[in-house]
Amino acid sequence: MIYNDKPSYWGFLVSLVYPVRCFCCDGLINYGDYVCDDCRVEIEKCRNSRTKVVSFYGRRYNIHSPFVYMDAAESAVKLIKFTFSPDNAKPMGDEIAAKVRRLRERDFDIVTAVPFTKKDKLDREYNHAVLMAKRVSKRLSVPFDEKLLKKIRQTKRQHHLSGLERRTNLRGAFAARKDVRGKHILLIDDVVTTGATLCECADMLYRAGARKVTCATFAATKYSN
Ligand SMILES: [Zn+2]
Repeated sequence: MIYNDKPSYWGFLVSLVYPVRCFCCDGLINYGDYVCDDCRVEIEKCRNSRTKVVSFYGRRYNIHSPFVYMDAAESAVKLIKFTFSPDNAKPMGDEIAAKVRRLRERDFDIVTAVPFTKKDKLDREYNHAVLMAKRVSKRLSVPFDEKLLKKIRQTKRQHHLSGLERRTNLRGAFAARKDVRGKHILLIDDVVTTGATLCECADMLYRAGARKVTCATFAATKYSN
């Protein structure tokens, strides 16, 4: 798999000041690598062979995720989310790109990501889903547009909500900001649990005229409730 980057002289110099770290465990690694030897083995054990299928307001969504949200893959998500590690979006985005590249319908027109609210933006230094989506866009040579969707309402934290409660919590939380008539949109997020967030966003894109919305995440939880 794609676990290193093309070396550059500039990148090497930067690595002397800011050492390169494994995107799963944060351990120090060589310049040019993304993952340490142990995590390279461990993350392969998290490969996801299934596609999460979610029904949402009469539409069926297949959500494509290279990994199951467990062990090394779970630790990678927590690392990029809770520590300042924007470069980790590179290998994570590469994995998403590799996954969607194998789809039969991959004639994407635009790549976008599940947006943050203004409050989210204040709490975090970056939206990791946006960084991953940018990397996917680069890998697939499909334009990225951050402004397709907007989160217009702050929502409750979702961890303890049931599937139905999540849907209610999210209804009307997002809005499509552009006319996307006839477009096939690739929508990216970090993790899919019930799929409520992705499907709510996708639903808004369909209302704005999208021909098709394909959803992909870095990892998928094993069970949806
Ligand atoms: Zn590691």
